[in-house]
Amino acid sequence: GTKLRGKERKMASEDKGAAGTGSFTAPPRHIEKASIKEPITIKDLSSTIGVRASEIMAKMMAAGQLATINQVLTAENAEMLAMEFGIELTVEKKSSMLETIQKEYEKEVPAEELSPRPPVVAFLGHVDHGKTSLLDRIRRTSVVTGEAGGITQHIGSYLYDDGQRRVTFLDTPGHKAFTEMRARGANMTDIAVLVVAADDGVMPQTEEAINHVKAAGVPIVVALNKIDLPNTDENKILGQLADKGLIATQWGGDTEVVRTSAATGEGISELIEYLDYIAELRQLKARTKGPAIGWIIESEMTTGEGVLARLLIKNGTLQKGDIIVSGSSYGKIRKMVLAGGKVVKEAGPATPVEVSGLNEIPLAGDPFYVLEDISKAKDIAQEQRAQKREKLLAQHRQITLENLFSEIKAGELKELNVIVKADVQGSVDVLAKSILEMNTAEVGVRILHAAVGGISESDVLLAEASNAIIIGFQVIADERARSLAESRKVEIRLYRIIYQIVDDIKKALEGMLTPHVQEKQLGRAEVRQIFRISRYGVIAGCFVTEGAIPRSAKIRLIRDHIVIRDNNSIESIRRNKDDVSEVRNGFECGIKLQGYDDIKESDILEAFEFVEISRTLDSVATR
Ligand code: GDP
Repeated sequence: GTKLRGKERKMASEDKGAAGTGSFTAPPRHIEKASIKEPITIKDLSSTIGVRASEIMAKMMAAGQLATINQVLTAENAEMLAMEFGIELTVEKKSSMLETIQKEYEKEVPAEELSPRPPVVAFLGHVDHGKTSLLDRIRRTSVVTGEAGGITQHIGSYLYDDGQRRVTFLDTPGHKAFTEMRARGANMTDIAVLVVAADDGVMPQTEEAINHVKAAGVPIVVALNKIDLPNTDENKILGQLADKGLIATQWGGDTEVVRTSAATGEGISELIEYLDYIAELRQLKARTKGPAIGWIIESEMTTGEGVLARLLIKNGTLQKGDIIVSGSSYGKIRKMVLAGGKVVKEAGPATPVEVSGLNEIPLAGDPFYVLEDISKAKDIAQEQRAQKREKLLAQHRQITLENLFSEIKAGELKELNVIVKADVQGSVDVLAKSILEMNTAEVGVRILHAAVGGISESDVLLAEASNAIIIGFQVIADERARSLAESRKVEIRLYRIIYQIVDDIKKALEGMLTPHVQEKQLGRAEVRQIFRISRYGVIAGCFVTEGAIPRSAKIRLIRDHIVIRDNNSIESIRRNKDDVSEVRNGFECGIKLQGYDDIKESDILEAFEFVEISRTLDSVATR
């Protein structure tokens, strides 16, 4: 049937707003204070701050925004505008219907109403190291009596229950999904199982996974998998893990490394035993009585049953017939199914269930709540839809080097999180070291992840979830990472000189950073063919894949996400033997770089120019 996954839908509806990174400083005038309640029209703002509406509209006009007097402003926009007139505006946000319900649910539960619950476990690790196979193997060992025979329904996440031990396994493969959920505020995972294949050892994605999990503060258990294979060097892998700060218990550390094989089943019960033990140690508890609350794990649209949503219950008991709301989606639960296909009337904490009855696809990572009546659920869903866009922008105030100091001063920030990507290991090490040396009493500098290679989507997700900035040295961000960073307002700073990185961070920490020139991306071209012409040099036969390549642009030459050559001028650019001043997206051309010939097929030419940056209302108003 037609399937549209919640996550894709989310990506598609993501706001692609302009990424203004400039923070705003008040003009040096006498600052007055004022406060206002939402919703704020220009008229309201005018009477509150005592500035004529026409003046406010003129300011907006200067920033390219045409406004009418009854137009409703976002809280942030109103604050910025007030600031322009030297007035510090406090906006009293009206709490939404959902927030009222959230508060209700957040009330502390008396200890006697709490019972032990299974731990929620996610599998992470390098591709092909056996995450899926282990999950499958465990599922097959978990024999739930009364399961609908033969029907293997796809429910990725499941509650393992052997009568003695209960563990909930999440099927959200990989650290990207893990961090994406965390960015949405869904910290469902209690324990991460890091799967490392015994015949392959610690690989780049293993390292990434470790850093993503550490940033989330979730305990790690290592499954040293595929131990059935010959020619494995387990000691070497324990050494690699120790290098990443995971010292095995067999080496006197406190990371449990369980030897497993998804092929033979060896070590699986030991792994489960250990997970259960951690849960006991951490005294994981939940409220079992009362209305349920939890998260959406996954959702999809099916032709037969409409919206199917997979939920993880955090607290309470979910019942068939319950009315739930999650974001702008709501409905009455028509049918509830456990992993394996068993239809149930109710389910308790840490149980993943699949429900039908929602009116639209909810978003993975969003919380769900049970309500008493459907009309209230509908009202909330509508309110959420209206607020969705605004919330996406307002909830998150990503850190940038430019707003760093003001956040520190406001006491909002105690630690600067940094992700470092560089061209070679040597640069990674030097950079990490010099960045860590910038720790001050006021602000700690913490490196979440440092690795060789280009900046990827997973880096951006980690930065978003941990409010970090990304620093690239002699590398670039791929297109997907770049557009994700733009929509999530994550700052990526690319450098070619190490001391400049150190200098910028230092200045930012001291509040002295003044933006001057910034690179503006103009276009990209792919090298499809190489033509060597004696006495003239190499001409790259290119296809422009993005934007345009003007003859006046500077060129950066990229091979496998690594910057090979930078800031190179173009000697000539031709279309059909004619010299041209620019070639646009979708066209072929021949490019000769000035004084540089070491170009290869499939290289990427990135065209850019330097522009003067000034902080304008424009760059803040569009945040
Ligand atoms: P994932 O990408 O981490 O989910 O890895 P998969 O579970 O898809 O496994 C990748 C490959 O490794 C598959 O061909 C599996 O059959 C194989 N595999 C997984 N676990 C084991 C194991 O314990 N022993 C052996 N010999 N092969 C395994």
